Formats: sequence, structure tokens, C-alpha cells
Amino acid sequence: MRGLNHDVDLMIFDADGTLRRTLIAGQPAPRAPGEWELLPNVRATLAQFDWAGTRFALASNQDQVGYGLYTAEMAGRLLRDLAAAATGGACETPVIRFCPHRLDVSCLCRKPAPGMLLDILRETNTNAVRALFVGDNETDRAAAESAGVRFRWAREFFDHA
Ligand SMILES: [Mg+2]
Ligand SMILES: [Zn+2]
Repeated sequence: MRGLNHDVDLMIFDADGTLRRTLIAGQPAPRAPGEWELLPNVRATLAQFDWAGTRFALASNQDQVGYGLYTAEMAGRLLRDLAAAATGGACETPVIRFCPHRLDVSCLCRKPAPGMLLDILRETNTNAVRALFVGDNETDRAAAESAGVRFRWAREFFDHA
């Protein structure tokens, strides 16, 4: 979907499998700089958008933090690095949320719960109908539906093969 953001004030993305992939076999997400790369077409697709009028946000499940595999600080740093790389630094104020909880912890933020999306809408003062969420997992689609936010599959949005 090109030139979409004329009617979108806020574009929210999942991270792993949507914008980035890990370079470490058997590891679902990076835990350090140098362990990830952008997925194909991400940079080129996002370069077509006018970020002056649209906010960029990330909503990512990072249960690796809850299991002590890396710190919340590193998770946040890697997601900030991802936001900068994906937009070529065009978005100066990305809004970043991640769920750091273990899978056996009941929380309001882990997708498919809508908590992170609702929090991002609140922080950016955006009406849900003016937002779009792009993800690669059924939990992403369900979170968008619960939050009342439009949803697009990453493989279509970025023309992933
Ligand atoms: Mg994903
Ligand atoms: Zn959580």
C-alpha cells in the first residue's frame, strides 16, 4: 500500500518479523546491536511517507526481557535503533512500547491485548480511526481489532516475498 498516509496520522509497527529480523539462528529477536537487520523493502517503503505529518510508533512483545535474556534498557535501545533505521531518521520522536513480561505473567500489554496500542493512541492524542497498525502475526491483528485500529499484514504492506 503506497502513499497511504494521507489519511493516517499515526503508523504503528510490530518489530520482529515486520520491520526487522534476527541474524542469530534459533533466536526470535535480537538481544544486542549487530544481531539484526531490516527486512527487505522496509526502508524503501517507509521512505515514501511524509513523516512530518505522521507519527511513527512501535509496539513489540519482548518476553526475552522477562526471562532475563537481556535488559529492558537494551530492548528499548534496539527498538529506538530500529525506528531510526526504518525511517532513515526522518521521524525524530518515535513512540516506543514493548511488553517485557514473561509469558506466564498476566498483563495488559502483551499482544493480542490492545494495551500498548491504546497507550500509544493516548500519548500521541490520536483518534483510533486515524491510526494504522502493521504486523505479521495473528496477535497483531487481534490487538488492532481490539483497539479499533486499522490493520495491514506486513507481507503485503512491504511486499515481502
Ligand atoms: Mg512480529
Ligand atoms: Zn506485558
